[in-house]
Amino acid sequence: MRLKDRLIRMIETDGPMPVSLYMQTCLHDPQHGYYATRPGVGEDFTTAPEISQIFGELLGLWALHEWQVMGMPAPFTLMEVGPGRATLMRDALRAISGVKAGDAFLKAMKLKLVEASPALRKVQADTLSDFAPEFLTQIDDVEDGPLILIANELLDCLPVRQFIRDAEKNSWAERKVGVAEGELIWGAEPLDDLPFFTPDLNRLKGFELQPGLETMALTLAGIAERGHAMRALLIDYGPNHLPPEDTLRAFYKGEQIDPLAMPGECDLTVDVDFAQLRHQGEKAGLTVHGAVHQGPFLLSLGAEARMQQLTQANPETAQTIFEAAARLVDPKDMGDRFKVICFSSGDLPAPAAFF
Ligand code: SAH
Repeated sequence: MRLKDRLIRMIETDGPMPVSLYMQTCLHDPQHGYYATRPGVGEDFTTAPEISQIFGELLGLWALHEWQVMGMPAPFTLMEVGPGRATLMRDALRAISGVKAGDAFLKAMKLKLVEASPALRKVQADTLSDFAPEFLTQIDDVEDGPLILIANELLDCLPVRQFIRDAEKNSWAERKVGVAEGELIWGAEPLDDLPFFTPDLNRLKGFELQPGLETMALTLAGIAERGHAMRALLIDYGPNHLPPEDTLRAFYKGEQIDPLAMPGECDLTVDVDFAQLRHQGEKAGLTVHGAVHQGPFLLSLGAEARMQQLTQANPETAQTIFEAAARLVDPKDMGDRFKVICFSSGDLPAPAAFF
């Protein structure tokens, strides 16, 4: 049975479904879910490491620097969550191996990957075979010890709940996925209580909440509380102040489509609420830096100098290299829209490139 037909049957049996359950099923259903069945990174959508090698290289050098700040612990875990085609990690480890302290870093490193998609796990194992990565089911499965974690464009695929405000009645409802005439449709169910409320929300037509942001903060805080140095660098798109209002989008072969049209066959994504993420990090007892904008972050790590090196070494493709690097940092492109936040254990100073 197609996923769409199964969703329709589930809704007919159990009633309208929160958007979070719809998203979770579309992305991760073991039989028909998008990430379970088709690795669409670089096909349905693209990401910073797929655009320019500079992205992964600079994050690798950032990780190396933070490991030095931690006192060069050996062993330590380098973890990536949601590594996609492993392009970021491949570029990061190549950059690390090319600098002086790199050998010691690579010798001390235990590479751990957390990846929901069996198809992508295979790509990652092949691409990173020189570094013997170990796959974990969840972040919390990491063994005790110092940890540096990187996740790019992971948070935007964590399931979202959507709340809608009726300004006239001054009341709130939760958006649901229902069924009419054998098709999936949008609906809403009135709510007595919101999961949280601040007066700011009354200025919005609605807002989104990803429960997974709190889970992420609590998981990382748990690791830090076990007494180990911990840095987690999370990069994604989304606002830094008010929560996103209604940002659920679906992508199929680079085109934006209706999120209800092809469940399981397209990527689903939302903007990440960086104010909420910061709040959850602080509430969990972590030290939080940022969110800062991706453009200044990459520039302060040396994006321009690296771009110049690459264009000088490859004059025939200099324009392409320049344009790709510019996309990552240009405020009109990814430079402003993407944010970088760092969660740390309390014993560490501010991480590099957070101003
Ligand atoms: N970081 C990569 C890929 C981003 S796409 C890049 O920048 O190119 C999102 C990635 O997160 C995919 O690898 C997807 O399979 C993975 N993913 C999504 N939800 C996940 C979850 N709950 N746990 C672990 N991995 C997840």
